[in-house]
Amino acid sequence: MNHNTNDTTPEYAVEVHDVHKRFGEVHALQGLSLRTRKGEIYGLLGPNGAGKSTLIRTIVGLHEPDSGSVTVLGTRIPNKDILARVGYMTQASALYNDLTVWQNVAFFAGLMGCRDHDAIAEAIEFVDLSHRKDSRVGTLSGGMRQRVSLASVLAHKPELILLDEPTVGVDPQLRFQFWDHFRAMTDLGITLIVSSHVMDEAERCDRLGFVRSGQLIAEGTSLSLREQAGTDDIEQAFLVYAEQKGVGNNVQ
Ligand code: ADP
Ligand code: MG
Repeated sequence: MNHNTNDTTPEYAVEVHDVHKRFGEVHALQGLSLRTRKGEIYGLLGPNGAGKSTLIRTIVGLHEPDSGSVTVLGTRIPNKDILARVGYMTQASALYNDLTVWQNVAFFAGLMGCRDHDAIAEAIEFVDLSHRKDSRVGTLSGGMRQRVSLASVLAHKPELILLDEPTVGVDPQLRFQFWDHFRAMTDLGITLIVSSHVMDEAERCDRLGFVRSGQLIAEGTSLSLREQAGTDDIEQAFLVYAEQKGVGNNVQ
């Protein structure tokens, strides 16, 4: 992996400081700050419209913040060199149905400058799809397609991967498998930021950030968040923090 010499803060994979982002009248990010430690699974939890996708796109450099700063792997962005060290899986599938598994993974790896045959094979093997590598993606089940998407963000060996609602529409059994894959990624030293509006995925994350109305309203482990909120239930805990921050009635 290529390491950037500007890497000044190795402890954190991502540092977002006081970021604001508006789309016309919509104030999508309202002074949001968070820090993700290297090698952890950080869960970004919040309802639809909370600002999760906007935050993720800001971290990967697709949106420029109106104000505030974003530092990725120790490098202040925007910075085009950092992209090759980052993987991003969007909320909607970006795969080509008429290409095979191998061709899709090779295409997305190629966009990131990776043309390494072994790395592509490894990524496909990682998601247990070697036996289907020559199948057209259009012929695969939904769960397999999601795994192809994962392989597509993995092949160029990123140090940080952002997955935007990767388990939406995935059946419960497969969701378990997915989380096993996520954990295996962090075992490789990769940092994962995973967004979800499903609170029951919280337990699988090392730390959580609760996002509501473009703000981070609480951050910590599932246990500490529930303890501090005085409840066993993570959904209930979310509502307690939303109420405290005065954003409880501001659903977009
Ligand atoms: P989430 O991913 O948590 O559902 P989003 O980040 O997609 O939330 O959206 C946050 C808010 O910003 C919403 O009100 C959404 O309509 C708005 N928004 C997001 N992207 C755009 C855009 N490109 N143009 C206009 N409004 C947007
Ligand atoms: Mg979203």
